[in-house]
Amino acid sequence: MSIKNESSCNICGEKKFQQKMCENCGSESRHRLLYSTLEKYGYLNKKTTFENIRVLHISPDPGIVNNLFSIIGSGYYLSDYKSKYYENYNENLPIPFLRLKLPDDIRIFSDNYFDLIIHSSVLEHIPGKYVDHLTELVRILKPKGRMIFHVPLAKDFLSTKTIEGGEFLTSDEERILIHGENDHYKTFGYDFFVEIKKLNGNFCVETFTEEFKKSIEAFHVKITHLNQLTTIFTFTKNENTQESSN
Ligand SMILES: [Zn+2]
Repeated sequence: MSIKNESSCNICGEKKFQQKMCENCGSESRHRLLYSTLEKYGYLNKKTTFENIRVLHISPDPGIVNNLFSIIGSGYYLSDYKSKYYENYNENLPIPFLRLKLPDDIRIFSDNYFDLIIHSSVLEHIPGKYVDHLTELVRILKPKGRMIFHVPLAKDFLSTKTIEGGEFLTSDEERILIHGENDHYKTFGYDFFVEIKKLNGNFCVETFTEEFKKSIEAFHVKITHLNQLTTIFTFTKNENTQESSN
């Protein structure tokens, strides 16, 4: 089920769209669903219990950064290894902008460091095994902390196993053929759901069903130009963790 006649962008209020991109803030469907998911869990409300939280936003999303900074303040950490994104999004914000090279640089953070980690269309760009990357990201989440994220799923993901190793292909043409984009190293299949459920927490799919639509209506969020293929995932780390301290 999709909504096609929404009136405005839920991030910035703009009413004009080019294709599915907001003409003002540049957000696409997945960014607007990400934003409404953040709102659903209370992260956009200064009066909730989320005071003094530490948030890592990897590959910051158009439109969302300024709003989140105004709410979270100095605990908001941005990261993007590619400098062009750095320049586009964050040159004027007085907060840490890290150029983490993933996956190795996740290791600089101690266990249980962040209350919230946000990444949208990031994991498919990271060389290596996605299970290792998810494990590391969950490690640096605090107990009860949450990861809100998006990965592109294979069209027939229910019957497809994840394909990795795009970093070892010798040409962009091969990566486009196998993974759909010249800088995608993996294509996610059904095992993504199996593997994330093995991690220490609860996994939830925020998709654009009638049920989700109802749940976000309660938060007075206007959702625009979403389609049923837009999906956001949430992972909430268990309160009881038994991890090493290094
Ligand atoms: Zn907008």
